[in-house]
Amino acid sequence: MEIAGNSKKIAVYPGSFDPITNGHMDILKRAAALFDQVIVAVLHNPNKNPLFSVEERMNLISEATKDYDNVAVDSFMGLLVEYVSMKSASAIIRGLREISDFENELRMAHMNRHLNSSCVTVFIPTNNAYSYLSSSLVKEVASHGRDVTEFVPSAVAKAMHEKYRKA
Ligand code: ADP
Repeated sequence: MEIAGNSKKIAVYPGSFDPITNGHMDILKRAAALFDQVIVAVLHNPNKNPLFSVEERMNLISEATKDYDNVAVDSFMGLLVEYVSMKSASAIIRGLREISDFENELRMAHMNRHLNSSCVTVFIPTNNAYSYLSSSLVKEVASHGRDVTEFVPSAVAKAMHEKYRKA
């Protein structure tokens, strides 16, 4: 068996992050404590109609993670396992909120392992306080003019308020 030696342990945390929430931040904080480097990778998904562009999402994540020295922000399109290999990462981070998340996540983890046998998916359960949070629910609340500062990093709450004020 090959011993990894001193090689850096890099993990990719992929997602839509439209926008990043305190639930995502909780997972990221835990992942950053487990790996030498975590790359938050925003997916370019042409099938979704996002509130924030990929660039806006990346800027909001960079702002929210500016105090973490081992977190980088990037974007990708296409197959996640190819992006993971390109970055020489050894793990994919996914957050779990409830059992229903797990079904789909496990299927994706099996497929990714099949496509790249060296790639490990690490599931991190969310803090209970955030188990009901999703980007889409936060957008729904903000779109009706309610304050969302308790659910998202402060720069995100401000950016959402601006978006919906203009809409
Ligand atoms: P995707 O479109 O890939 O599901 P998301 O931005 O919705 O993108 O989610 C990215 C990752 O963050 C997923 O692993 C998801 O389960 C996790 N996640 C989303 N919301 C929360 C939350 N409130 N607590 C913990 N993990 C979360």
